[in-house]
Amino acid sequence: MMLIPCPHCGPRAQAEFVYERTLDSVVALDAGADDAMNSLFTRTNPRGVDEELWRHTYGCRAWMAVRRHRVTHEIESVQPVGPEALP
Ligand SMILES: [Zn+2]
Repeated sequence: MMLIPCPHCGPRAQAEFVYERTLDSVVALDAGADDAMNSLFTRTNPRGVDEELWRHTYGCRAWMAVRRHRVTHEIESVQPVGPEALP
């Protein structure tokens, strides 16, 4: 079981979270159709650390950027994103 340190709730079981996507696959609002298609469907899946978008769906419901190693699942950092990240 993987523990994800929510910035608001502390360490919680992965089952409370929903994985959304890698941060590099988030499409800008002004992206063209080809760029959007490439970002969403043509991605690499390299080993190593990647930044991912997760949501604490069954907790505080906050979105967060998680830097996680894809092989070992070691989490390097978790940063809140969205309105919850504002002071
Ligand atoms: Zn939380």
